[in-house]
Amino acid sequence: MTHPVAGLDRFGHPSCVLCGLCLAHCPTYREFPLEVASPRGRLALMRGLASGHLEPTRQLSDYLALCLACRACETACPANLPYGLALERARADLRTPRPPSWMARLIERFTLGWAFESRARLGLLVGTMDLYHRLGLSTLVERLFASMLPPRLRTLSRLLPRCEGPRPPAPPLVPPETGTVAFMPGCVADHYLARTNQATLLVLARNGVRTVVPEEAVCCGALHQHRGLLDLAREHARRTIAAFEPSGDVAVVTNSAGCGATLKEYPRLLGGDPAWEERARRFSARVRDLTEFLAGRELRPLGPLPYRVAYDDPCHLLHAQGIGAAPREVLARVPGLTLVPLPESDWCCGSAGLYSLTQIEMSQSILARKVENIVQLGPDVVLTANPGCLLHLRMGLAGHGIRAMHLVDLLAESYWQRPVATGGG
Ligand code: SF4
Ligand code: SF4
Repeated sequence: MTHPVAGLDRFGHPSCVLCGLCLAHCPTYREFPLEVASPRGRLALMRGLASGHLEPTRQLSDYLALCLACRACETACPANLPYGLALERARADLRTPRPPSWMARLIERFTLGWAFESRARLGLLVGTMDLYHRLGLSTLVERLFASMLPPRLRTLSRLLPRCEGPRPPAPPLVPPETGTVAFMPGCVADHYLARTNQATLLVLARNGVRTVVPEEAVCCGALHQHRGLLDLAREHARRTIAAFEPSGDVAVVTNSAGCGATLKEYPRLLGGDPAWEERARRFSARVRDLTEFLAGRELRPLGPLPYRVAYDDPCHLLHAQGIGAAPREVLARVPGLTLVPLPESDWCCGSAGLYSLTQIEMSQSILARKVENIVQLGPDVVLTANPGCLLHLRMGLAGHGIRAMHLVDLLAESYWQRPVATGGG
């Protein structure tokens, strides 16, 4: 196995110097203080696997599955080890000797495979699940089969969010026109957080920015990449690049930290593919997180909002993209707003893509600590810049009287002086 990535050893894995500086930053190690639940321990497992010194046992696979892929360890590591890359490869390599159960593969094939083939299929899947909730079938099934359903499955049914879609068409531009961007609406987020996408289009239009939304782009491939389904992730990457190429050189804007991190890493994902490497590089150079895009421009005057707000950094914005100042700079432009520092705002909330559905117990205990920090601080609103984190925070803050919003929902509220998204709470 050869991995031509700087910082990796001859087995393709990072040369960890065992300093341990990452341990204090790892959310799973704090919950489960064993070496195998730490970045250093996991790197040792990956190295053992690659060198053949360790067998791909179920237990080893479970230890790696428990990692959030939040990449806080990358920020903390003085040796700049590409932990996320090593984990992604180890998960992909483990799929051959340790494939998921037949049931998990069936669900994967139907959801991450079939349903993600087109926006229409995805809409059908999300719509069906939403109908199941709206008709009260989830409660009925839970009551009727309470003793038969495994507790994990019962919790899973409660964790599924409600749908806000479909996304309304792009609003008219407020002249004079100041530019054009291509907007990546995301896959499931375009249904579950359609109002946040609407708020994004509204804020851009209010600032004279024209948006094009290439509907052929279904998914950036992040969900597939994190599960080690690299072939499917590459397929989505190629499709996304092709969908955005007709929009020329304009910025590709996303309001999802998770998607942004993946879109910016396409050159690595498609590295070694001569037909796509250069196209991936050109595409990724255009990608901007929405906060990054807005922070770099003059914004038309925002309206006053007398809120005390806390901002919680999404891991894939702070640790994967190194963006922490831009969201705060944008918020500082809202008159009347008081931004209060949230303790441990750089720690994962436990959402982590599909992690909240596959590692329910760990995800919930990490969320409980985040909620405790927020409740103790007592802001009116807690903000994030990632759809998955937003849904997870809303679930955790339900009944606490604190709204959880995407940063762009707050900007839209500031412009229109009324909520565009509900914000839960
Ligand atoms: S990615 Fe996050 S959970 Fe995984 S080892 Fe690093 S800090 Fe820990
Ligand atoms: S901080 Fe980096 S070098 Fe140090 S133990 Fe952690 S992964 Fe290894």
